[in-house]
Amino acid sequence: QAKSGGTGRVGFFSLSLSRAAEERLALEIALREALQTGGLELYYQPQIELAVGRLHGLEALARWQHPTLGTIPPDRFIPLAEECGLIGALSRWVLEQACGQLAKWRREGLAVPAVAVNLSASNFHNLELPTLVEQILERHGLQPSDLYVELTESTLLEDHSSTLQTIERLHDLGVRLSLDDFGTGYSSLSYLRRLPITELKLDRSFVADLEHAPMARSLSAAILGIGTSLGLTVVAEGVETVAQKDILQAQGYPVVQGYWFAKPMPPQALPAWMAEQGMNRAQQV
Ligand code: C2E
Ligand code: MG
Ligand code: MG
Ligand code: MG
Repeated sequence: QAKSGGTGRVGFFSLSLSRAAEERLALEIALREALQTGGLELYYQPQIELAVGRLHGLEALARWQHPTLGTIPPDRFIPLAEECGLIGALSRWVLEQACGQLAKWRREGLAVPAVAVNLSASNFHNLELPTLVEQILERHGLQPSDLYVELTESTLLEDHSSTLQTIERLHDLGVRLSLDDFGTGYSSLSYLRRLPITELKLDRSFVADLEHAPMARSLSAAILGIGTSLGLTVVAEGVETVAQKDILQAQGYPVVQGYWFAKPMPPQALPAWMAEQGMNRAQQV
C-alpha cells in the first residue's frame, strides 16, 4: 500500500514537472513564431530635457501580444528569450525596428533626436554586434550618434572579455552607451571610470522614494553630482508625480522619463503627443 502510494506520488510529481516544461516549451515556440510573424512590437517612451521641454530621445520597449495569453511583459519574455537562445534574433529585430522607425519619423518631418534600445548581457558576448549595428544604421541612413544602447550593471558584472571589447567597438563607432538602472544591485563606481559610457540612468526605485525618504534625495543628488562631474548625462527614470519632477528639477536633473510625462506609446501615437507638447516639426534636430 505504502509502496504504491509512493509510486503514485512520484508519478504525480513527474507529471506536473513535464506539464511545466510543456508550458515553457509552448511559450518558447510561440515567441519564436512571434519574432517571425510580427507578434512583437516596440513601444516608445519619451525622454525629456527638463529645462527646455525638448525631446532628448525615445526609449524603445518591447511588447509581446500573445494570441491567447494577451500582453506578456518584457520582464517575462526577455529572460525566456535569453534562456532559449533567441535573444540574439530578438535584439537584432529590436535594433532594426527602432532604427527603421526613427528614419521613418524623420522622413515625416518629426524632430526626433535619437532612439535608445535595451540590450542583454549575452548580446555583448557577440563580437559581431558592432558590425551588425553599423549595417543597420547605414541601411536606414542614420548616424551612430542617433542610437543609444542601454546596458545594465549585471551585463558588466560578468566581466567577459568580449563584453568590454564590444562596448569599446560600439563607442569607437560613435554609438552612445547608457548605463541603465544605475544604483541597484552591484553598482560600482569603477564602471564609470573604466567604460566609455555617455549616460547614466538613475533607477526608478530612487525616484519612487524621493518624496518621502531624505536618503533617496541625498542619493539622487549624489549620483547626479558624480555623473555630471564625469561628463555624463544623468537621466532620472520612473518619474510618476509632479512632486518627483519638482525635486529632480531643483536638484538639476537634465533629463527625465516617466509616466508623469508620457507612458510608452505605439509609434503612430508620437506625432500627436509631440504636437500636444508644443514640440513642433520645425524644431531642429
Ligand atoms: P528598463 O529598460 O529599465 O525600462 C524602463 C521600464 O520602466 C519600462 O518597463 C517602462 O515602461 C517602465 N516605466 C517607465 N516610466 C515609468 C513610471 O513612471 N513608473 C513605473 N512604475 N514604470 C515606468 P517595461 O517596458 O515593462 O520594461 C521592463 C524592462 O524590460 C526594461 O527595463 C528592460 O530592462 C527590459 N526590456 C524592455 N524592452 C526590452 C528589449 O527590447 N530588449 C531587452 N533586452 N530588454 C528589454
Ligand atoms: Mg532601459
Ligand atoms: Mg531602467
Ligand atoms: Mg530594467
